[in-house]
Amino acid sequence: MQYHHIYHAGNFADVFKHCVLIMLVQTLCKKDKPFVFLDTHAGIGRYDVTSAMAQKTGEYQAGISVVYGFPDLANAPDVIKTYVDLVRAQNHQDAKKIAESENTLHCYPGSPAIVQALLRPQDRMILVELHQEDVKLLKQEFAQDKRIAVHHANGYQSMKAFLPPKQGRGLILMDPAFEDPNDFNNIIAALKDGLERFPHGIYAVWYPIKDNLPIRDFQQELSFLGFQNVLLTEFSIGKVATADTHLKRCGMAIINPPWQFAEQLEPVITWLEAVLC
Ligand code: SAM
Repeated sequence: MQYHHIYHAGNFADVFKHCVLIMLVQTLCKKDKPFVFLDTHAGIGRYDVTSAMAQKTGEYQAGISVVYGFPDLANAPDVIKTYVDLVRAQNHQDAKKIAESENTLHCYPGSPAIVQALLRPQDRMILVELHQEDVKLLKQEFAQDKRIAVHHANGYQSMKAFLPPKQGRGLILMDPAFEDPNDFNNIIAALKDGLERFPHGIYAVWYPIKDNLPIRDFQQELSFLGFQNVLLTEFSIGKVATADTHLKRCGMAIINPPWQFAEQLEPVITWLEAVLC
């Protein structure tokens, strides 16, 4: 496995994905009843954006850095404010350690750290990561939090392993690396398992959009699975030209989205696309 998310942490796709994630978790938090968050491709949890690897691509500079330093956050959608507060809180902790200035971005929280910040005492989080070295870091990162379990396993098998959750409520994030040409097929197979075991769960699947054809095939397969309610969202930065080698477009499929989620998400996407263009 060659993929390391640190090269991409905090890029435009992470910003979009993590805002959607916050909105979904916030909806689950509206009821006192506990829920489970299952992250099938968890990464390492937190990313040092000052590291040589993150600096090599500098992708975060066109993503989180722009939102973090945006001068008019007061008029941004609520989820953006929550997201920035959450990133800032992570950086304050970090800044204490390395005594840097308040507004400098050192650390970018991945999906596990973002959800950890929103999790209540009654909720649980299951993190699955296949990369041997990454899972060690993930275990170290969350060892002190009794609500969180970390597993070294294939995320696509985690529907069979962990669903249905005993809490009866849950959000499953599938955020593969898309290095394997079978990733779209593997997602569909895993969702089939999810549908059998936990048909009412919320599933959020992130994917890159490079060519339209595989995306159309994937979306068609998705529509054949039999979930009642699937929301397809897209996010892009700048004009996409065929010669582009850098990713500029991505999507998320949200299965069983909360009530009026599309309407709530629309202004967030509009804001992000205007700010990150
Ligand atoms: N969800 C993370 C976040 O938002 O912070 C980022 C995840 S990153 C895009 C994808 C991760 O999946 C990588 O850490 C990679 O090592 C891991 N991975 C690749 N194949 C996997 C598999 N079959 N099962 C579980 N993890 C896998």
